[in-house]
Amino acid sequence: MPQMLSGSEPWGIWKRLGLGSLAILRPLIGGSMGDAQATRIGSSPPLTIELVPSTSWRDNLRSRLSNAAWKQLRHQQYQRAQDRCEICGGQGKQQGYRWDLECHEIWAYDEAHHIQKLLGLVALCPDCHKVKHFGRTSTEGEREALRALLHLMRVNHWTRPVAESYIHRAFQQWGARSQHTWVLDLSWLETA
Ligand SMILES: [Zn+2]
Repeated sequence: MPQMLSGSEPWGIWKRLGLGSLAILRPLIGGSMGDAQATRIGSSPPLTIELVPSTSWRDNLRSRLSNAAWKQLRHQQYQRAQDRCEICGGQGKQQGYRWDLECHEIWAYDEAHHIQKLLGLVALCPDCHKVKHFGRTSTEGEREALRALLHLMRVNHWTRPVAESYIHRAFQQWGARSQHTWVLDLSWLETA
């Protein structure tokens, strides 16, 4: 078992506290994140973490659409993607899942006005999607969190310290964004 993920207690604590706590990252990350590590992340890695602020968890595109409308949008995106993950080219069945693709909502955050704007959809393999929602994935257990960490490293060609530094920063950003209530801008739907 990897040293940094050994011991279930911190994960248990985080589960008890719920997603609002950053305590889970202490055992996962360890140490401080220097600028030297941060610069190795690069400006636009292929696979990024996109944590939705906790204040927006209940409201999203999917919750505003009927099942039929969401299904249509989803399958439209899978077709555009030619039934492959738009980030890594993978398919879920090859990763051990029962389905190939999942549909991910891409959001932009206007930090000044607290507007969360939908930019579009992307077809992702389940492993990439689990990285996108790393916080939720971590609550599924150590094994799931480690699997997502390894996938992030593989797709971005990162070492573990670089990936861990990146995760740490993503959670810091999530913590800051979760302090605010966000207004959803779904105007993208008019062009979909
Ligand atoms: Zn993928």
